[in-house]
Amino acid sequence: DNPKPLVLIPGKINDRVRERVKAEFDCLEIERADASLVPEHRRSEVRAIASMTVIDAAFINAFENLSIISNFGVGYDGIDAVHAALRNVMVTNTPDVLTDEVADTTIALILNTLREFPKAEAYLRVGKWASQGNYPLTSLTLRGRTAGIFGLGRIGLAIARRLDGFDIPIRYHNRSKRQDISFPYRYEESLVELADAVDLLICVVPGGEGTEKVVNAEVFEALGPNGVFINVGRGSTVDEEAMIEALSSGKIAAAGLDVFADEPNVPQALLDLPNVCVLPHVASASIDTRNKMANLVVDNLAAWLSGNPALTPVSEARSLNHDD
Ligand code: NDP
Repeated sequence: DNPKPLVLIPGKINDRVRERVKAEFDCLEIERADASLVPEHRRSEVRAIASMTVIDAAFINAFENLSIISNFGVGYDGIDAVHAALRNVMVTNTPDVLTDEVADTTIALILNTLREFPKAEAYLRVGKWASQGNYPLTSLTLRGRTAGIFGLGRIGLAIARRLDGFDIPIRYHNRSKRQDISFPYRYEESLVELADAVDLLICVVPGGEGTEKVVNAEVFEALGPNGVFINVGRGSTVDEEAMIEALSSGKIAAAGLDVFADEPNVPQALLDLPNVCVLPHVASASIDTRNKMANLVVDNLAAWLSGNPALTPVSEARSLNHDD
């Protein structure tokens, strides 16, 4: 009898991931990604990690027979994927299954930021409509804007497709111009040029070293006093202090944010600003979409641990196979 492979779950995880891992594998849950929490005699048994937390090189090194890290989420900036590849450890994420949900959320966040719908609802609920009259007209609107997408990947493109329906022009910046000729969006050579050319800047690039604090004071300056900044990518991509300064001094008009530098801690200075719309990192957070992500996490484990190719390897791991 072959024993079932041992899958380690460090920290919090979606319920469906936990249930399926327990049903299909041997499962060990620990409170956080700290190897000392795994009994020494079990460390060499660990074949896989299913997680949504930070997995650094030291944690990877602690398990000599580790074969795959399956990340819950498309963004895997918390995982040292370069080190994993050096150790021949597969890394997978959950692309595509959340793309439409995140794009839908982004549209809602854009409209809520521009047209103040959450504030207008609160106004009605506390009785001000009846006592004080109509909610004040909003100074901002989507009408007449040009959108700039920083990160025209899977989600960025789904956002652009939705914005097409709103009849506004769209530009984008990636490290390289997309070669697909099937869409009309204009490429800008740099983030500052993009910010300068648009008045609605939507950030949906991955986190990590390459994008650390690249949305900075210069970018906000370029976006301008009528400019609106939306972030559904990662909080680490933004210089949060520079953003607070730009919002409070009127260098930009408003911001809509689903992600923050130090989640779940959001600076009070940001919350105190009247021109900010915030969400607690909920872009993909429906039961339906999270279940699809959970299934992909476990399907990747099942495929790889039975000797088949991983379903959705991250780019750093794409050349790995079972013979390595
Ligand atoms: P993709 O890999 O499909 O797209 C990423 C895009 O960003 C690519 O077009 C890429 O183009 C561009 N990009 C990457 N690095 C840079 C850089 N340094 N400078 C400029 N452009 C860059 O990913 P997805 O669209 O599937 O997801 C994007 C991100 O969204 C995730 O990594 C995650 O962080 C975030 N996300 C947030 C969610 C939330 O709950 N708020 C939910 C889901 C995702 P190129 O390679 O040419 O530079």
